[in-house]
Amino acid sequence: MDKLFSPSTVQRIIRKYDFKLEKSLGQNFLIDNNMIEKIIKAADITKEDLVIEIGPGIGTLTSAAANYAGKVKAIEIDKKLIPILHETLSEHENIEIVHSDILKVDLKQLIQTEKSYKQVKVIGNLPYYITTPIIMKILEERTRVSDIIIMLQKEVADRLKASPGNKDYGSLSIAVQYFCTVEPVASVPKTVFIPKPNVDSSIIRLVVRSQPLVYVDDEDLFFKVVRAGFNQRRKTLLNSLSNAMGIDKRILEETLLLCKIDPARRAETLTIEEFEILTNHLNQK
Ligand code: SAM
Repeated sequence: MDKLFSPSTVQRIIRKYDFKLEKSLGQNFLIDNNMIEKIIKAADITKEDLVIEIGPGIGTLTSAAANYAGKVKAIEIDKKLIPILHETLSEHENIEIVHSDILKVDLKQLIQTEKSYKQVKVIGNLPYYITTPIIMKILEERTRVSDIIIMLQKEVADRLKASPGNKDYGSLSIAVQYFCTVEPVASVPKTVFIPKPNVDSSIIRLVVRSQPLVYVDDEDLFFKVVRAGFNQRRKTLLNSLSNAMGIDKRILEETLLLCKIDPARRAETLTIEEFEILTNHLNQK
C-alpha cells in the first residue's frame, strides 16, 4: 500500500470504494505525514504499549502507530470504513479493528483483555462533534490509560489548558486538569485534511496523574460546585452557587469567608485548590 497520508492515495481509496465522507461523523482525513509523526512522537510508543485509536478513518495514523506499538486497537463507528481498513492495514498483524461507537465501548473490558502490555495509550484525530464527551469518558472511567495524545479543535485545546483569569478557563479546564497534566504539542493548519475543516486544530498530550490534582472528600460535590460556579460565570460566587445549588446565602457567605474566598469573586478567578477547599467545607454543612 502506498503511503496512506498522500493526498492522491486518500483520494484513490475514497474513489475506489465510492466512499461518501460523512460530515456528521467529523470525517476529515489527515494528508500530512508531519502531523502524524508529531502525534506518534508525543505518544512515545513502544512495543510494550497497547494503543487505542479513536476513529481510524482509512487507517493513516493507525498504520504509523502499528509500526511502533505492541498492539493497536482501532475503534471506528462507520461500518463503511471497516472493509477499507481491512485492506489498507492488511500488512500489519498487530492491529485489531473494532466496529463500535467509542462512547458505548466498555474501555475497562477492552483493556483488561490485553494484560500483557505495560502501558495503555490513547491516540486519535478526534471526531470534533464529540471531543469533550470522549475525553471525559476516558478520564472518568479510570482505566489504565496513561497518556492521551489527540488532535482536536484549537478552541477546545485552549479550554483544556486554560488557567484562572483566562477567558477559556471553565469547568472543562478544571475537570481535565484534575485528572491530567496538559501539554500542547503542535498547532495544526486546516490544509492538512481532506476535506478542509472550518476550524483550526491543535495536538495536545494529556498525561494521567497517578492521583487527582486535589483531594476532595466528595468528588461528585466538587464537580457540582465547579459546574454551578461556571453556569452563570458573570455572576458572583455568592449568587451563582446559591442559585444553582439552593444553598442559603447567609450560610454560603459564611462558608466562603471561612475559606478565605471573597463572596464577590467569580468562579473564573478560583484556582482548583480553592474549589477543593470550598467543596470540603460545603461537604461538612
Ligand atoms: N484517523 C483518521 C485520520 O486522521 O485521517 C480519521 C479522523 S476523522 C477526523 C474522525 C474519525 O472518527 C472518522 O473516521 C469517523 O468515522 C470516526 N468516528 C466518528 N464518531 C465516532 C465514534 N462515536 N466512535 C468511533 N469513531 C467515530
